[in-house]
Amino acid sequence: MSINAKETYSKFIKEEAKRLGFLSCGISKAGFLEDEAPRLEKWLNNNHNGQMAYMENHFDKRLNPTLLVDDAKSVVSLLLNYFPSEFQNDNSFKISKYAYGQDYHFVIKEKLKELLHSIEENIGAVSGRAFVDSAPILDKAWAAKSGLGWIGKNSNLITQKVGSFYFIAELILDLELEYDHAVTDHCGSCTACIDACPTQAILAPYIVDGSKCISYYTIELKENIPHEMKGKFDEWMFGCDTCQDVCPWNRFSKPHAEPLFNPNPDLLSFSKQDWMDITEETFRKVFKNSPIKRTKFEGLKRNINFLE
Ligand code: SF4
Ligand code: SF4
Repeated sequence: MSINAKETYSKFIKEEAKRLGFLSCGISKAGFLEDEAPRLEKWLNNNHNGQMAYMENHFDKRLNPTLLVDDAKSVVSLLLNYFPSEFQNDNSFKISKYAYGQDYHFVIKEKLKELLHSIEENIGAVSGRAFVDSAPILDKAWAAKSGLGWIGKNSNLITQKVGSFYFIAELILDLELEYDHAVTDHCGSCTACIDACPTQAILAPYIVDGSKCISYYTIELKENIPHEMKGKFDEWMFGCDTCQDVCPWNRFSKPHAEPLFNPNPDLLSFSKQDWMDITEETFRKVFKNSPIKRTKFEGLKRNINFLE
């Protein structure tokens, strides 16, 4: 394939991504993630994944999408903004902003399907697979490799223009494209995220112990939350945004334009007392199609009881 064709295809894919509402799109050659391999291995060996056993599965595929998708040539990474325009009331138990609206898996999958369809219509028979947090893919590493941002000391992907409140998704295609390059790390001497983490889960710059993170305790952990964590959750009842909220680059976050990410009004107005009194019926109404359904009613109640 000529360089010109690759350039034209890449440009087309990026323009289509913009049209579909993605913040940005970057492309990398599919292959083994050499730099990530020792990091992932060390992280797993230190049990920083806690009970998230799925992180240990498919180790090789996780590092190499060509083992996951036949004839994979390119990884197209996409960011979709979820930063809200309205927030929960101050006297409330907190929910991570990514979970305010409808489940992002469905919202993004639809957009990826449309993007793939448009690529097939305009470029030709292309085989590809879409991923949203759903397969063994190191999405942040691919997005960083594709120049969409750098992985910050809090382990989130950060951009100078819009901070870090966005979802990351990928299309893996059997099509050769023009590839982007990584950008520079702009964390510098800042340690705001490390200093602010309520459970000291950021052990050192760029090393987050997932098994100490409030997101893990409130979403992934199936058992009771360990007693020694009592009083440390800073009112988070589903997920935690502290290390993103304090990141200076998030001063540049702008509200999303995706109506499906707008929350049920009750989610914003509920006080601590309202959450403590929540019934299963209200839970189903407020969190219809929400990612919070993942914890189920009992899980959310457990988290709320832990904060009382
Ligand atoms: S999400 Fe919260 S608990 Fe987890 S590392 Fe960030 S600040 Fe710490
Ligand atoms: S808070 Fe500071 S150190 Fe942490 S990710 Fe943001 S810029 Fe980097």
